[in-house]
Amino acid sequence: MKLTARNILTYIYANYLFLRGDVQKAITRLKNGQYILSIYFHDPSKPLFGKCMKWLSQQGIFFIDLNTLHDIATGTMPFPKGAVVLTVDDGWKTNKTNIVELAKQHNIPVAIFVTTEPVLAGNGYWWSYVKLANKAGYLNINPEQVKLMKNKSRVELLAKLKDRFCVEREAMTVDEIQEVEKNGKVVIGSHTVTHPILPRCTDEEVYMEITHSKNQLEEILHHEINGFAYPNGDFSEREINMVERAGYQLAFTTKPAYLTAENIKEKYRLPRFEVLKDVSFAENICRMSGVWFRNNNT
Ligand SMILES: [Zn+2]
Repeated sequence: MKLTARNILTYIYANYLFLRGDVQKAITRLKNGQYILSIYFHDPSKPLFGKCMKWLSQQGIFFIDLNTLHDIATGTMPFPKGAVVLTVDDGWKTNKTNIVELAKQHNIPVAIFVTTEPVLAGNGYWWSYVKLANKAGYLNINPEQVKLMKNKSRVELLAKLKDRFCVEREAMTVDEIQEVEKNGKVVIGSHTVTHPILPRCTDEEVYMEITHSKNQLEEILHHEINGFAYPNGDFSEREINMVERAGYQLAFTTKPAYLTAENIKEKYRLPRFEVLKDVSFAENICRMSGVWFRNNNT
């Protein structure tokens, strides 16, 4: 973990929650079938992902894939006791060594939601251009401010930045995407074409982002793409309808909540708990078990 004031305070708080027995209670409830843990990553280091898998396995839980989750959501399978579903957003190049290798080794199912443009263009995610332009003094707005722009303005800004700045490949290649699905339980899902903030898009843009990414991935992988994750966790009813009409079976938000027998029926707004880089492992244990988040709906 990075030694910042924030991380030291959260380390103390996480240990307090742990000692108070909150984590143990959460795991007991999980194993009693009160909920499924839905956990997601972006680009964790190999030691972090390994530690998370080790800790979860030690709790006597089991991992389920998206097909099983879908069967549970539709009532084809009973609600399980002690199940965890793992997802990963963006399709970072580092996922291959840091996540996929370990997942294969331990036969752990993982769904990776890929943004297709950086895969096909071989460059960086849009926020990397914004950060680079800021560092160079060319731009004075940060990625959070860009997220508030209309999508058309974001696209125009990015075109300018891409003319001027070069970001090396950050996403997996097409070959790597094909490779990670082989011999293991990794499945690829969609995370749009350009990772826009969908509610800032026009209807046409949303349609393109949701359906074109699905088509592109199906062409690469030769099977149906069933899972979707909303970039930045942002969506509205329009996006939900579009995702359903495009033929996806499940879609993940970033709402930090347990997956219950009730909310799993909402197949296109599934919640997830995020594991962070650079924070203490104690905090990440509290995050994975859900006790970090107040007001979650159980
Ligand atoms: Zn993302």
